[in-house]
Parts: sequence; structure tokens; C-alpha cells
Amino acid sequence: MSSTRIPLASLSRQYQAIKSEVDAAIHGVIENTAFVRGSGVGSFERDFAEYSETAAVYGCGNGTDALYLALHGLGIGRGDEVITVSHTFIGTIEGIVMAGADPVFVDIDDRTMLIDPSLIEAAITPRTKAIMPVHLYGQPCEMTAINEIAEKHGLFVVEDAAQAHGARWEGRRVGSLGHAAAFSFFPGKNLGAYGDGGAVASTDEKLIEKIRSHANHGRLDKYTHSSIGINSRLDTVQAVVLAEKLKHLDDWNVARRSHANVYDEFYDDCQIRHQMVAAGAESVYHLYVIRVDAGRRDDVVAKLNAEGIDAGIHYPTPLHKQAALAGLPCSKVSLPVTERAADEVLSLPIFPEMNDEELERVMKAVQAAV
Ligand SMILES: *Cc1c(COP(=O)(O)O)cnc(C)c1O
Repeated sequence: MSSTRIPLASLSRQYQAIKSEVDAAIHGVIENTAFVRGSGVGSFERDFAEYSETAAVYGCGNGTDALYLALHGLGIGRGDEVITVSHTFIGTIEGIVMAGADPVFVDIDDRTMLIDPSLIEAAITPRTKAIMPVHLYGQPCEMTAINEIAEKHGLFVVEDAAQAHGARWEGRRVGSLGHAAAFSFFPGKNLGAYGDGGAVASTDEKLIEKIRSHANHGRLDKYTHSSIGINSRLDTVQAVVLAEKLKHLDDWNVARRSHANVYDEFYDDCQIRHQMVAAGAESVYHLYVIRVDAGRRDDVVAKLNAEGIDAGIHYPTPLHKQAALAGLPCSKVSLPVTERAADEVLSLPIFPEMNDEELERVMKAVQAAV
């Protein structure tokens, strides 16, 4: 077949659709020369807080910093434990380790591939300070159950919302569901910058102000430093790009959801398993993930690639099996559901600009390959 390649995601098609606004916005920052802490940053922070239905947002350097800043801002550090999952991107636990705390892994629910709330309580110790649910692939975790457990045990809840901008749990946006939330604006995320970027969101404005100072060299004003901070700030160029893209995010997420509905129906018919969306969750489908027999996955990927279709594996090695974590106590666990998922997951192309013909080609190829 001589048809063109179908990528997992297409940032170039998105850029073509918004080129004139984005180019003008970037040019405005360059003319203005307010590259750091320019007015575009504050206005994006307000826009994104409003969008996420939360009180305040701080724009920082990337999503990993956002996780660290949220934990540090809540006073979580050395000697503390944070409960999270191993089936995620490594940034999740980097944020915890950067804060000085110890990650503790619990297994996932086999249907949603998200943290299994029924396993959390058994992992709580006197050192536990927070639960970090990861809204993986764009689907919010079961936040009602998680918040109930947190409240009962006096724990903080810090959402890793890096893949879920705009998703809702029981009608409420992610980013507003815990004590704080971290977002990533890595280019490929549902809301992506033209470089690195991230944000911390919270319903607690005082927490965001504390984080703002810590992430800006511990500043009170230009040369008055109340503590030793760090430097993690969202560039003005990235902020204005994000502000333009935010105007389109709901439409883009609606398009992703509509593609996912087509996929769901088809794969259900073919009895191909895919990430199930829990009642109460409204996913924004950062990724569309199916499950294939572990032994056949390489073959399926090769067949899709031969048909000009990109496929991804998110993520092939669970964090507790990564060499980077070998020295940490959290690596010495057995997480059977996580381990099986890592062997079986396969991400298919999904992006707002995908057309019907491309969806059709992917579905036919998957059916033939599986
Ligand atoms: C992307 C991502 C991060 C880290 O974000 P960066 O901006 O790349 O630092 C953290 N957690 C999850 C689940 C992610 O997908």
C-alpha cells in the first residue's frame, strides 16, 4: 500500500491550523523582550486556573518540577512516603525523589490500568504523607474513593495530571480534585508547549504563592530571598503559545473522544481489550491503549509498521523494574497486574486532526495483525 504514514500524534497538523495566531503571539514576546516572567505568563496562569476550575496556578519549567514543587510546597520531604503507581512515566517518581521522599508502589486495576483504590490502605504506614494518583492516558483516577481514604488517614492528595488536561471526574476537572496537581506541557501532551513547560494547580492560593516564591529563587522581591529556592519558571514564549492553544483544547479533546468512541465500538466487536473508562470518568484520551498477548506484541507492532501505522508502548518496563530504582526500597515489590499490563499494552494513533479514513486504516490493520 502506498498510503501515507499515520503517526501516533501529529504536532505539524495542529500547528498548520493555528499558525497565524501562534506566530503572532511568539513574535509579540520577542518584540517585547519580556522573556522571563512577562505578562503572558500571569495571564496564562489565570486562564489555565479558570479552565481547570481551580483557584490558582503557577507555571514552572516542566511537569517533573511541578510534581516536586507541589510536594515540597505541602511540606513533604525526607522520611515521608508517597503512595503512587509503577505503571507510569518515570517523571512521577522523580518528583517524589527530588522532594526527598520515598515512593511506595501499589498495583493498578486491570481494567482501567490506574491506581487500584482498594489496595491503598494496606500500603499506608506512619510515614505516609500523600497519595499521588496518576491520570494515565488521559483518564482520571477514581478520585472519590481516593479522597475518602486520604481524608480518613489525614493524607494529602497530589494529582499527576500530566496526561489529562481537561479530563473530568464526576463532572469536576482534574487539577481541582486534590490538594495540588501537577501538569506537564511537554509538546506531545494534550496541551503542549513548543518546548518544556509545566504547572502546579491548587484550590489553595497560599500554597501556590509559596511555590511561586520557592521556584523563583526563594524570592520575596528581586534581591530579598527568604529561603534557598530553585529556578523553575514557565518561559513567556511558552506561556503565549499555551494561551493560544488553550482556546482550542476543549475542541481537540472532543475530537479525541469521538475517535476513541469509534475505536471502542470496533475493538469491542473484535474482542480486543482496551483501557476501560470507569463510570464517573471523562477521559481526554492522551493515548488510546489496547492490550495484546505479550508474546505477540512485537509481531503486531511490526505488522502495523509495515502498513505505515505507528504504534507505541507506554510503558514497556514498570518503574519498580527500572535500573534507576534498583537502590530504592520501593523496587522490592511484586505488582502482578502492573507487570502484565507492561507486557501487553499497545498505544494506537489518536490525535484531534485524525480523519475517518485514517481511523479506518488503523482499525483494519489492527484487526488483521491481532
Ligand atoms: C510527561 C509526564 C510527566 C513529566 O512531565 P515533563 O514535563 O516531561 O517533566 C510526569 N508524569 C507523567 C504521567 C507524564 O506523562
